Amino acid sequence: MAVALCGLGAATACGGTQGADAQGAAAESPAGSRADAHTPATSPAAAELEQAERAEVAKKPLAGKVVVLDPGHNGANYKHPKIINRLVDVHTQKKACDTTGTSTNDGYSEAAFNWDVANRAAKALRAAGATVKLTRPSNDGVGPCITERAAIGNKVKADAAVSIHADGAGASAHGFHVIMPKKINGPVDPVVADSRRLGIDIRDAIRAGTNLPYSTYIGRQGLDFRSDLGGLNLSTVPKVFVECGNMRNPSDAAKFKDPKFRQRLGVALAKGIEKYLG
Ligand code: ZN
Repeated sequence: MAVALCGLGAATACGGTQGADAQGAAAESPAGSRADAHTPATSPAAAELEQAERAEVAKKPLAGKVVVLDPGHNGANYKHPKIINRLVDVHTQKKACDTTGTSTNDGYSEAAFNWDVANRAAKALRAAGATVKLTRPSNDGVGPCITERAAIGNKVKADAAVSIHADGAGASAHGFHVIMPKKINGPVDPVVADSRRLGIDIRDAIRAGTNLPYSTYIGRQGLDFRSDLGGLNLSTVPKVFVECGNMRNPSDAAKFKDPKFRQRLGVALAKGIEKYLG
Protein backbone atom coordinates (compact mmCIF):
# COMPACT_ATOMS: atom_id res chain seq x y z
CA MET A 1 0.00 0.00 0.00
CA ALA A 2 2.83 2.41 0.77
CA VAL A 3 4.04 2.12 -2.83
CA ALA A 4 0.72 3.36 -4.16
CA LEU A 5 1.02 6.53 -2.08
CA CYS A 6 4.48 7.34 -3.40
CA GLY A 7 4.47 9.66 -6.35
CA LEU A 8 7.22 11.02 -8.57
CA GLY A 9 9.52 13.42 -6.79
CA ALA A 10 8.51 12.01 -3.46
CA ALA A 11 10.64 8.93 -4.05
CA THR A 12 13.19 9.75 -1.34
CA ALA A 13 10.42 10.05 1.23
CA CYS A 14 8.84 6.79 0.28
CA GLY A 15 9.38 3.30 1.63
CA GLY A 16 10.57 1.90 4.91
CA THR A 17 13.36 4.43 5.46
CA GLN A 18 10.96 7.30 6.00
CA GLY A 19 8.95 5.35 8.52
CA ALA A 20 12.05 4.41 10.49
CA ASP A 21 13.20 8.04 10.58
CA ALA A 22 9.84 9.24 11.79
CA GLN A 23 9.79 6.68 14.59
CA GLY A 24 13.29 7.69 15.63
CA ALA A 25 12.31 11.35 15.71
CA ALA A 26 9.25 10.62 17.80
CA ALA A 27 11.27 8.55 20.25
CA GLU A 28 13.79 11.39 20.70
CA SER A 29 11.28 14.21 21.07
CA PRO A 30 10.48 15.38 24.64
CA ALA A 31 7.54 13.72 26.33
CA GLY A 32 5.62 16.98 26.33
CA SER A 33 5.78 17.49 22.61
CA ARG A 34 4.71 13.89 22.02
CA ALA A 35 1.71 14.39 24.24
CA ASP A 36 0.90 17.56 22.31
CA ALA A 37 1.06 15.65 19.08
CA HIS A 38 -1.64 13.23 20.33
CA THR A 39 -3.47 15.85 22.44
CA PRO A 40 -5.82 13.48 24.33
CA ALA A 41 -5.83 15.61 27.50
CA THR A 42 -6.29 18.99 25.90
CA SER A 43 -8.71 18.50 23.02
CA PRO A 44 -12.29 19.53 23.83
CA ALA A 45 -13.61 16.08 22.94
CA ALA A 46 -11.13 14.37 25.28
CA ALA A 47 -11.91 16.78 28.12
CA GLU A 48 -15.61 16.10 27.68
CA LEU A 49 -15.01 12.38 27.76
CA GLU A 50 -12.92 12.70 30.91
CA GLN A 51 -15.66 14.76 32.57
CA ALA A 52 -18.28 12.17 31.66
CA GLU A 53 -16.10 9.44 33.14
CA ARG A 54 -15.70 11.41 36.35
CA ALA A 55 -19.45 11.97 36.55
CA GLU A 56 -20.01 8.24 36.09
CA VAL A 57 -17.66 7.45 38.97
CA ALA A 58 -19.32 10.09 41.16
CA LYS A 59 -22.82 8.81 40.39
CA LYS A 60 -24.14 7.47 43.67
CA PRO A 61 -25.25 3.85 43.91
CA LEU A 62 -28.69 4.64 45.35
CA ALA A 63 -29.48 7.68 43.20
CA GLY A 64 -33.19 7.62 42.39
CA LYS A 65 -34.04 5.04 45.09
CA VAL A 66 -36.57 5.73 47.84
CA VAL A 67 -36.18 4.06 51.24
CA VAL A 68 -38.63 4.32 54.14
CA LEU A 69 -37.22 3.68 57.61
CA ASP A 70 -39.73 3.09 60.39
CA PRO A 71 -38.31 3.52 63.90
CA GLY A 72 -40.70 1.41 65.98
CA HIS A 73 -42.93 2.99 68.69
CA ASN A 74 -42.39 6.60 69.82
CA GLY A 75 -40.92 8.27 72.90
CA ALA A 76 -44.20 9.65 74.25
CA ASN A 77 -46.43 6.67 73.46
CA TYR A 78 -46.56 5.75 77.15
CA LYS A 79 -48.24 9.08 77.93
CA HIS A 80 -51.07 8.46 75.47
CA PRO A 81 -52.62 5.06 76.20
CA LYS A 82 -55.98 6.02 74.67
CA ILE A 83 -54.39 6.89 71.35
CA ILE A 84 -52.10 3.90 71.07
CA ASN A 85 -54.58 1.33 72.39
CA ARG A 86 -57.18 2.11 69.74
CA LEU A 87 -57.75 -1.05 67.71
CA VAL A 88 -56.86 -1.02 64.02
CA ASP A 89 -57.41 -3.63 61.31
CA VAL A 90 -54.19 -5.32 60.13
CA HIS A 91 -55.98 -7.72 57.78
CA THR A 92 -55.37 -10.89 59.78
CA GLN A 93 -56.67 -9.43 63.04
CA LYS A 94 -57.41 -6.27 65.01
CA LYS A 95 -54.49 -4.86 66.97
CA ALA A 96 -53.52 -1.84 69.04
CA CYS A 97 -52.60 1.20 66.93
CA ASP A 98 -49.14 1.19 68.51
CA THR A 99 -47.38 0.06 71.70
CA THR A 100 -44.88 1.62 74.08
CA GLY A 101 -42.06 -0.76 73.18
CA THR A 102 -39.60 -2.16 75.67
CA SER A 103 -36.43 -0.86 77.34
CA THR A 104 -33.20 -2.03 78.90
CA ASN A 105 -33.33 -2.85 82.61
CA ASP A 106 -31.79 0.54 83.37
CA GLY A 107 -34.31 2.46 81.30
CA TYR A 108 -32.86 3.03 77.82
CA SER A 109 -36.06 2.89 75.80
CA GLU A 110 -36.56 0.86 72.66
CA ALA A 111 -38.18 3.91 71.04
CA ALA A 112 -34.99 5.94 71.58
CA PHE A 113 -32.80 3.09 70.36
CA ASN A 114 -34.93 2.59 67.22
CA TRP A 115 -34.91 6.33 66.52
CA ASP A 116 -31.13 6.56 66.87
CA VAL A 117 -30.36 3.55 64.67
CA ALA A 118 -32.86 4.70 62.03
CA ASN A 119 -31.19 8.09 61.79
CA ARG A 120 -27.72 6.58 61.51
CA ALA A 121 -28.92 4.27 58.74
CA ALA A 122 -30.71 7.18 57.03
CA LYS A 123 -27.50 9.19 57.00
CA ALA A 124 -25.57 6.34 55.38
CA LEU A 125 -28.31 5.76 52.81
CA ARG A 126 -28.51 9.45 51.92
CA ALA A 127 -24.74 9.53 51.49
CA ALA A 128 -25.17 6.70 48.98
CA GLY A 129 -27.69 8.82 47.06
CA ALA A 130 -31.02 7.47 48.35
CA THR A 131 -34.06 9.53 49.23
CA VAL A 132 -34.95 8.46 52.77
CA LYS A 133 -38.20 9.08 54.60
CA LEU A 134 -38.75 8.30 58.28
CA THR A 135 -42.21 7.43 59.58
CA ARG A 136 -41.95 9.84 62.51
CA PRO A 137 -40.24 13.24 62.83
CA SER A 138 -38.86 12.90 66.37
CA ASN A 139 -38.71 10.66 69.42
CA ASP A 140 -40.94 12.79 71.63
CA GLY A 141 -44.31 12.26 70.01
CA VAL A 142 -46.99 9.59 69.84
CA GLY A 143 -47.57 7.05 67.06
CA PRO A 144 -48.19 6.91 64.18
CA CYS A 145 -50.41 3.82 64.12
CA ILE A 146 -48.94 0.70 62.58
CA THR A 147 -51.44 1.07 59.72
CA GLU A 148 -50.10 4.54 58.97
CA ARG A 149 -46.49 3.32 59.19
CA ALA A 150 -47.24 0.89 56.37
CA ALA A 151 -49.20 3.52 54.42
CA ILE A 152 -46.23 5.91 54.44
CA GLY A 153 -44.07 3.39 52.55
CA ASN A 154 -46.92 2.59 50.17
CA LYS A 155 -47.66 6.24 49.42
CA VAL A 156 -44.09 7.06 48.35
CA LYS A 157 -43.81 3.71 46.51
CA ALA A 158 -40.66 2.94 48.46
CA ASP A 159 -38.13 0.65 46.80
CA ALA A 160 -37.54 -0.80 50.28
CA ALA A 161 -39.02 -0.22 53.73
CA VAL A 162 -37.62 -1.37 57.07
CA SER A 163 -39.11 -1.21 60.56
CA ILE A 164 -36.48 -1.05 63.28
CA HIS A 165 -37.17 -2.64 66.66
CA ALA A 166 -35.59 -4.39 69.63
CA ASP A 167 -37.22 -7.06 71.74
CA GLY A 168 -38.03 -7.44 75.40
CA ALA A 169 -37.68 -11.20 75.97
CA GLY A 170 -36.39 -13.41 78.78
CA ALA A 171 -32.99 -12.31 80.09
CA SER A 172 -31.04 -15.24 78.65
CA ALA A 173 -32.43 -14.81 75.10
CA HIS A 174 -30.19 -12.80 72.81
CA GLY A 175 -29.21 -12.00 69.23
CA PHE A 176 -30.97 -10.40 66.27
CA HIS A 177 -33.48 -11.57 63.72
CA VAL A 178 -35.24 -10.23 60.64
CA ILE A 179 -38.99 -10.69 60.26
CA MET A 180 -40.46 -11.07 56.78
CA PRO A 181 -44.09 -11.12 55.66
CA LYS A 182 -46.12 -14.21 54.75
CA LYS A 183 -48.85 -14.45 52.13
CA ILE A 184 -52.13 -13.57 53.81
CA ASN A 185 -54.51 -13.16 50.85
CA GLY A 186 -53.93 -9.49 51.41
CA PRO A 187 -52.02 -6.33 50.44
CA VAL A 188 -48.52 -7.71 51.10
CA ASP A 189 -48.82 -10.82 48.92
CA PRO A 190 -47.26 -9.36 45.73
CA VAL A 191 -44.13 -8.25 47.63
CA VAL A 192 -43.57 -11.32 49.81
CA ALA A 193 -40.79 -12.67 47.55
CA ASP A 194 -38.97 -9.33 47.27
CA SER A 195 -39.33 -8.80 51.01
CA ARG A 196 -37.62 -12.15 51.56
CA ARG A 197 -34.68 -11.04 49.41
CA LEU A 198 -34.52 -7.76 51.31
CA GLY A 199 -34.60 -9.63 54.60
CA ILE A 200 -31.78 -11.98 53.68
CA ASP A 201 -29.58 -9.12 52.44
CA ILE A 202 -30.18 -7.23 55.68
CA ARG A 203 -29.59 -10.34 57.81
CA ASP A 204 -26.26 -10.95 56.05
CA ALA A 205 -25.15 -7.31 56.31
CA ILE A 206 -25.95 -7.07 60.03
CA ARG A 207 -24.15 -10.32 60.74
CA ALA A 208 -21.08 -9.17 58.78
CA GLY A 209 -21.12 -5.57 60.01
CA THR A 210 -21.84 -6.00 63.71
CA ASN A 211 -20.95 -9.59 64.58
CA LEU A 212 -24.27 -9.82 66.45
CA PRO A 213 -25.30 -13.47 66.81
CA TYR A 214 -28.51 -14.76 65.26
CA SER A 215 -31.44 -14.84 67.66
CA THR A 216 -31.30 -17.71 70.14
CA TYR A 217 -35.04 -17.53 70.79
CA ILE A 218 -36.96 -16.83 67.56
CA GLY A 219 -36.66 -17.99 63.96
CA ARG A 220 -33.94 -19.89 62.17
CA GLN A 221 -30.58 -18.46 61.11
CA GLY A 222 -31.75 -14.98 62.05
CA LEU A 223 -34.87 -15.18 59.88
CA ASP A 224 -38.52 -15.36 60.88
CA PHE A 225 -41.83 -15.06 59.00
CA ARG A 226 -45.02 -13.59 60.50
CA SER A 227 -48.56 -12.77 59.46
CA ASP A 228 -49.64 -10.82 62.55
CA LEU A 229 -47.70 -7.57 62.04
CA GLY A 230 -49.70 -4.68 60.58
CA GLY A 231 -46.54 -2.98 59.34
CA LEU A 232 -45.87 -6.00 57.12
CA ASN A 233 -49.39 -7.19 56.27
CA LEU A 234 -50.46 -3.80 54.93
CA SER A 235 -47.28 -3.04 52.99
CA THR A 236 -47.46 -2.99 49.20
CA VAL A 237 -43.72 -2.34 48.94
CA PRO A 238 -40.91 -4.75 49.93
CA LYS A 239 -40.67 -4.54 53.70
CA VAL A 240 -39.12 -6.27 56.69
CA PHE A 241 -38.79 -5.75 60.43
CA VAL A 242 -35.39 -5.93 62.08
CA GLU A 243 -35.43 -7.04 65.72
CA CYS A 244 -31.92 -5.95 66.63
CA GLY A 245 -31.70 -8.02 69.79
CA ASN A 246 -33.11 -8.38 73.29
CA MET A 247 -32.99 -5.25 75.43
CA ARG A 248 -33.50 -7.41 78.55
CA ASN A 249 -30.33 -9.38 77.86
CA PRO A 250 -27.25 -7.81 79.53
CA SER A 251 -24.95 -8.46 76.57
CA ASP A 252 -27.33 -7.12 73.89
CA ALA A 253 -28.28 -4.17 76.13
CA ALA A 254 -24.63 -3.17 76.67
CA LYS A 255 -24.12 -3.09 72.91
CA PHE A 256 -27.30 -1.09 72.29
CA LYS A 257 -26.26 1.57 74.80
CA ASP A 258 -22.95 2.11 72.99
CA PRO A 259 -23.22 4.80 70.27
CA LYS A 260 -20.31 3.21 68.38
CA PHE A 261 -22.21 -0.04 68.18
CA ARG A 262 -25.35 1.74 67.04
CA GLN A 263 -23.31 3.41 64.31
CA ARG A 264 -22.04 0.03 63.10
CA LEU A 265 -25.58 -1.30 63.20
CA GLY A 266 -27.00 1.66 61.27
CA VAL A 267 -24.30 1.42 58.62
CA ALA A 268 -24.75 -2.36 58.35
CA LEU A 269 -28.48 -1.93 57.91
CA ALA A 270 -27.88 0.62 55.16
CA LYS A 271 -25.44 -1.75 53.45
CA GLY A 272 -28.01 -4.54 53.47
CA ILE A 273 -30.60 -2.25 51.90
CA GLU A 274 -28.04 -1.06 49.33
CA LYS A 275 -27.19 -4.65 48.42
CA TYR A 276 -30.87 -5.43 47.87
CA LEU A 277 -31.38 -2.28 45.77
CA GLY A 278 -28.23 -2.93 43.75
ZN1 ZN B 1 -40.68 -2.86 69.07
